[in-house]
Amino acid sequence: METGGNSLTSGADAVKRKVCYFYDPEVGNYYYGQGHPMKPHRMRMTHCLLAHYGLLQHMQVVKPFPAKDRDLCRFHADDYVDFLRTVTPESQQDNLQQLKRFNVGEDCPVFDGLYNFCQTYAGGSVGGALKLNHGLCDIAINWSGGLHHAKKCEASGFCYVNDIVLAILELLKMHQRVLYVDIDIHHGDGVEEAFYTTDRVMTVSFHKFGDYFPGTGDILDIGYSKGKYYALNVPLDDGIDDESYQYLFKPIISKVMEVFNPGAVVLQCGADSLSGDRLGCFNLSIKGHGECVKFMRSFNVPLLLLGGGGYTIRNVARCWCYETGVALGMEIDNKMPQHEYYGYFGPEYTLHVSPSNMENKNTRPLLEAIRTKILDNLSKLPHSPSVQFQERPPDTELPEADEDQDDADERWNSDSDMVIDEVRKLIPRRARREVTGPNMKNPEVQKGKVEQARGSVTTETGVDASPMSIDDPKA
Ligand SMILES: [Zn+2]
Repeated sequence: METGGNSLTSGADAVKRKVCYFYDPEVGNYYYGQGHPMKPHRMRMTHCLLAHYGLLQHMQVVKPFPAKDRDLCRFHADDYVDFLRTVTPESQQDNLQQLKRFNVGEDCPVFDGLYNFCQTYAGGSVGGALKLNHGLCDIAINWSGGLHHAKKCEASGFCYVNDIVLAILELLKMHQRVLYVDIDIHHGDGVEEAFYTTDRVMTVSFHKFGDYFPGTGDILDIGYSKGKYYALNVPLDDGIDDESYQYLFKPIISKVMEVFNPGAVVLQCGADSLSGDRLGCFNLSIKGHGECVKFMRSFNVPLLLLGGGGYTIRNVARCWCYETGVALGMEIDNKMPQHEYYGYFGPEYTLHVSPSNMENKNTRPLLEAIRTKILDNLSKLPHSPSVQFQERPPDTELPEADEDQDDADERWNSDSDMVIDEVRKLIPRRARREVTGPNMKNPEVQKGKVEQARGSVTTETGVDASPMSIDDPKA
């Protein structure tokens, strides 16, 4: 059995970790609209399970400080953020051109409180990164985050702002290298694109590939320029089970940890890769999904756990509750405690549910070929790329309060917006785009697709991470 660097051979990892859990009690009230599969209520169900399993008292529970405009603009375009802040369900029809331009309307509807929702989930992820940067916890959790499809100036796949990119940018202030791992059933396209040309962030996405949203994530897409070999894509087919998944996950992640040696890890735990998901087609059990968390945790590197997809909401709550237990190093009872949403979990009323008997289309030869190809790509990397590391830029000023803090209004100063980093002060936004976002063709990902550079993320140490966009019609 492959194990992580510091994992205990006994299986259950006895070493306790300090865990910080971000949760806003309002988050469950946001509503994408009738019939929409994305239901923020699943975070409230998760929280309720955590409370009744007695897990909350083992971690610091933090209400996230809402991300502000300028926090979001560290990745997103100003006009896109302005649009998100001002659009309302009533006014949206007044500017159809903008809706179209920002891809807002159908998959990504305008709903009441949309901008507050974005601020909340992004605030949790950036807040988690800050806690990790300050050494205030070993693992930070934000189940409302992980919205990996959002682009610099475009909503996509139920995602509006990309909290993951923002959190990674924060982690890059402290760490030379950050690893991003994505176990959602969909390709982590927004995060990959943002860091496609940098060697400071490695992105590894395990996803269903072939006639499936968002259509990207070919095994041949490996990064570009300085980022070549720093994007990994693991394309999978329908019905993958726990054993097949771990046959790839563990050796690939072990090798990544060895050669990339990240200072921090972000794990997107999208639960639509679970068996029986309303939109998914994989066959993972909750234990199999949670095994990825357990394995990642075993490396003893600061870890940010985020949510993501997940559309059979009772299973999402089960999964993220189980994985919170994994983060804490606590085994929790399969028999579910009575709680407000107990009725959702019948007829079993258990934490774990059996996967189905669906066919696993991922044959062993197919899996072997993928494993060989990915490990081969990893062997081309130099160990721990050296990066000129300059003076650390200031933190994002995102104070946050314990959930039960008395006076919410006193916990932060409304003027304390995010500090603009030195690089951004020196280069006007437009000029920066011209400097760092050239129109370059990318032979690695082209394969007949039209591409354009769409701007850049300039990290605080001056390393460019120019997001490439692949104009690929949605599946
Ligand atoms: Zn997904």
